[in-house]
Amino acid sequence: MQNPFQNGMTQLDKVAKIKDFGDEFITRLRQPDRDIIISIPVKMDDGSMKIFEGYRVEYNNTLGPYKGGIRYHQDTEINEVKALAFWMTLKCAVAGIPMGGGKGGITVDPKELSKIELERLSRGWVQKLSDVLGPKKDVPAPDVNTTPEIMAWMSDEYTKITGDETGATFTGKPLDKGGSAGRGPATGLGGFYVFDSLRTQIGLPDKCKVVVQGFGNVGSNAAQIFIENGHTIIAISDSKGGVYNENGLDLEKLTEHKKKTGSLADFEGSKNLTNEELLETECDLLIPAAFENQLTNTNADKVRAKAILELANGPITPEADEILFKKSIPVVPDILANSGGVTVSYFEWDQNLKGEHWSEKEVFNKLLPMMNDAAQKTFKKAKEYSTDLRRGAFIVALERIQAKM
Ligand code: GLU
Repeated sequence: MQNPFQNGMTQLDKVAKIKDFGDEFITRLRQPDRDIIISIPVKMDDGSMKIFEGYRVEYNNTLGPYKGGIRYHQDTEINEVKALAFWMTLKCAVAGIPMGGGKGGITVDPKELSKIELERLSRGWVQKLSDVLGPKKDVPAPDVNTTPEIMAWMSDEYTKITGDETGATFTGKPLDKGGSAGRGPATGLGGFYVFDSLRTQIGLPDKCKVVVQGFGNVGSNAAQIFIENGHTIIAISDSKGGVYNENGLDLEKLTEHKKKTGSLADFEGSKNLTNEELLETECDLLIPAAFENQLTNTNADKVRAKAILELANGPITPEADEILFKKSIPVVPDILANSGGVTVSYFEWDQNLKGEHWSEKEVFNKLLPMMNDAAQKTFKKAKEYSTDLRRGAFIVALERIQAKM
């Protein structure tokens, strides 16, 4: 796999070519403040002991405490976590929230663990890192394969170790454990708000035919929200492949079908697709909502979407970016498009520290203008520098960080 951190640095270099931020600043942003690698011993159900490798990268805290999720995946490694932490730094800055950037992870396929093993592993991650975490220091959250329940275990472990009762060290907690209303759908909803704000500016019709890669929290919530707003999901996939129906998929029935059969394949009235085919499907809007490096120099020229909304982190390589730019396919970049998740995480942190609880309506009413503002600032910056939206978003973020630094 192409090194995602290298991709992040290439994006940074491309931006430094069109706006002079000074070498010192760019050099500082090429390194995280620190990366921490830990070993987590876990007692397995069969009595044996297994050691897992875990990570926390604290990239930059110029704008506020390090902020970012924890990923559980068999392919997770330090370069991926570093890249994700770098992007979190820029994401918080684009969204205009007082948070820095960080990310965590564990190399593990959580499907291979029992629930109690998963709990021991999650508590183990906190035991090794409790010194560096805290509401004013470093505030983790969910990412791929980490759930509100896992955040509850982690938050509980942190309280046990440190005595901190604010609950503000972890976000994405369940509602009854100090979580915020609206955190579940926040990334998908924020993505929709950004899309809606930019829709006419990027040349998309009123009603879009949408293709979604990914059926996790982000992909499935986004698909549902696009449908509720009058758009049509013509294809969607999970890690094993997807389904296509030019008249639109019924998401509720599809979810039911996946529950019953274990996969999306062979859904009534639709055609099966591989993930490669899905990315090359003709549509108005393509939403990659899974992993890094999905569009590369080998398939970017085959994209037949009118625009792309990146809800995954890093799904398009810098080489693919160039190809799409030449094909005049606008890409709404991850650090803008998926920033709704961390923005509601910030709301959760804020509520925890103030001892408040906001209704879902209040949360969404605060989220909407922030996403609008971030989208329009990015669009304006891209215009000002005659460049793409990714570079526009980077410039918005870097200017904010540099001003504070
Ligand atoms: N993991 C999410 C992201 O990549 C959310 C992070 C957070 O809520 O802190 O943006």
